[in-house]
Amino acid sequence: MLGEAEQQRLFIFIKKCEDLEGIFMPYNALPLNWRKFPERYNLEGSYCETCDTYYFPARVLCHKCRRKGKIVTKEMPRIGTIISYTKVHVGLKGFEHETPYYLALVDLGKGVKLLTQIVDSDDSKVKVGAKVKKIFRKINEGSKIGPISYGYKFKVIK
Ligand SMILES: [Zn+2]
Repeated sequence: MLGEAEQQRLFIFIKKCEDLEGIFMPYNALPLNWRKFPERYNLEGSYCETCDTYYFPARVLCHKCRRKGKIVTKEMPRIGTIISYTKVHVGLKGFEHETPYYLALVDLGKGVKLLTQIVDSDDSKVKVGAKVKKIFRKINEGSKIGPISYGYKFKVIK
């Protein structure tokens, strides 16, 4: 939790970003980035030891076991399989410069599925059933002087 002085500095920083670039930047962007480090950098999710269930993104409570579930932090598998994908031609704000790009639903096994960008892969190799592995890439830049987000994307390996 940020103290009042830190919140004020953050607010001034965000205001400067908006003034400089005339863009909207969510007030929780920096803390959100920090909170997402374990998930984005290490594919860290959670695991219920009581019922052997994996969760990604992480949960604090197992929906099957409720209070009886013993939740621990666990890294998710780094190899998966594309189960569905699309080629994006009109990107979201902040991703326009990357179009066209692939967005895929990847099955990591153990019941874990995630939506991710597929990069560094030939068009011919991006298909349902393709094996992919996690790689570390820049996700986006909030602004020229704002935070740069890094995290996982996936690449076809065969
Ligand atoms: Zn459980």
